[in-house]
Amino acid sequence: MKVLIVGGGIGGLVTALELHQRGIEAHVFESVNEPAALGVGINLLPHAMKNLIQLGLQEPLMATGIQTKDLSFFSKHGKLIWREPRGLDAGYKVPQLSIHRGELQMILFRAAQKRLGARIHTGHHFKDYRETPDGRVVATFVNRKTGAGVAEADGDVLIGADGIHSAMRAKLQPQAGAGVWSGMMFWRGAAVTEPFLSGRSMIMAGYPDRKVIVYPMSQRHFDQGQSLTNWAVDFMVDRSGHFNPEDWNRHGDRSEFLPAFADWRFDWLDIPDLLQRTETVYEYPCVDHEPLERWTFGRATLLGDAAHPMRPMGSNAGSQAIRDARAIADALASAPNIDSALAAYENERRPATTRIVLSNKLSGPERVMQMVEDRAPNGFDDLHTVITEKELQTVADDYKQIAGFDRESVNAGVGDDLRRSA
Ligand SMILES: Cc1cc2nc3c(=O)[nH]c(=O)nc-3n(C[C@H](O)[C@H](O)[C@H](O)COP(=O)(O)OP(=O)(O)OC[C@H]3O[C@@H](n4cnc5c(N)ncnc54)[C@H](O)[C@@H]3O)c2cc1C
Repeated sequence: MKVLIVGGGIGGLVTALELHQRGIEAHVFESVNEPAALGVGINLLPHAMKNLIQLGLQEPLMATGIQTKDLSFFSKHGKLIWREPRGLDAGYKVPQLSIHRGELQMILFRAAQKRLGARIHTGHHFKDYRETPDGRVVATFVNRKTGAGVAEADGDVLIGADGIHSAMRAKLQPQAGAGVWSGMMFWRGAAVTEPFLSGRSMIMAGYPDRKVIVYPMSQRHFDQGQSLTNWAVDFMVDRSGHFNPEDWNRHGDRSEFLPAFADWRFDWLDIPDLLQRTETVYEYPCVDHEPLERWTFGRATLLGDAAHPMRPMGSNAGSQAIRDARAIADALASAPNIDSALAAYENERRPATTRIVLSNKLSGPERVMQMVEDRAPNGFDDLHTVITEKELQTVADDYKQIAGFDRESVNAGVGDDLRRSA
């Protein structure tokens, strides 16, 4: 069997590694000529880390990223609402990891190049594909800048892992469109700071319409007593219906959101200082896409952001792409034929990711921050007069079930050898 994968981002590269591990021939076609370490921080949930460790990537990942010890929600006044341990500290047999997205991309790219060699094709921008009468797929690739033809490739299966503006999705589901602007803007950046809280803490403060997420993402900085601190700000702006399409590399202007956080100087972290000392700020609009009703057409299917674009929330976009990769590789390796493999993949992953897309529109696990803001906008002395422990626990547990990383499911089938190697 020969599988063609469009897109050499997180999902495409992990799919190639998973297929290769099962002895299936996989080819990756990536649009850019020279993959570069782009982006800022990304957080990998334990179920995704389990898959990456089982691919033998624990060494570079653990040397590069930083294990998340705990996740805390704070009010806009910096008062604690909820704290829970994460990863190994929460009894998982594998860690949760924060890492620079570009470094993750390069770890995957180097591993794929080493294992798959010339089957990783850069400078191949997907243009179109057709299915032949005998059930094969033939895809055409062009130069992204000039549009000149580069190659034609044929295979048994075509997987579109070409990200948020997927050309494969446009081809398979032309009615899906560009999504609806939620009015929420998401700014991101990173700066070197002093370590805060445990030194490995992830925090969210505020409420969904005005929120900051902060976490360290570099083991190297941690070892030197510093923190390479990633931050993201969510802020509802009035753009009167207009938005520029999602682009992870678009620079933003901090004056648009800085005043809204000017007095967020908490005794455990000075947010305005962090935002101000950041060199490059990126902006990304939160666009809602309706979940697709179908991913697979004949021998072509979708994976990762191409299949389930979602609001960047709950550390899910990257982790779910990695889970898709495991599911499609397992299905292609075990089902009696390709059609039933693609059906099994879609039946497993489409409903699961649809639940997350819909939950993220309602703010996912961060819902508790809105509950506190609604009930006590001027702050509180005793949290439990505002929200009960049971409410907090229920929201946290429900989201882990929805996102598929409750401890029992993740730990199932993981031996202590994996925990030790992590
Ligand atoms: C440059 C960049 C920076 C990012 N920064 C962050 C970040 O800081 N934090 C965060 O949480 N998430 C970030 N993301 C998004 C995150 O990587 C994805 O949401 C997640 O990993 C899902 O992975 P994916 O493989 O579906 O998509 P992606 O990782 O986005 O990969 C898609 C790949 O497809 C390629 N591609 C696109 N069109 C074509 C085509 N027609 N033919 C061939 N290849 C094509 C792209 O070049 C890209 O390599 C970033 C994505 C990109 C591309």
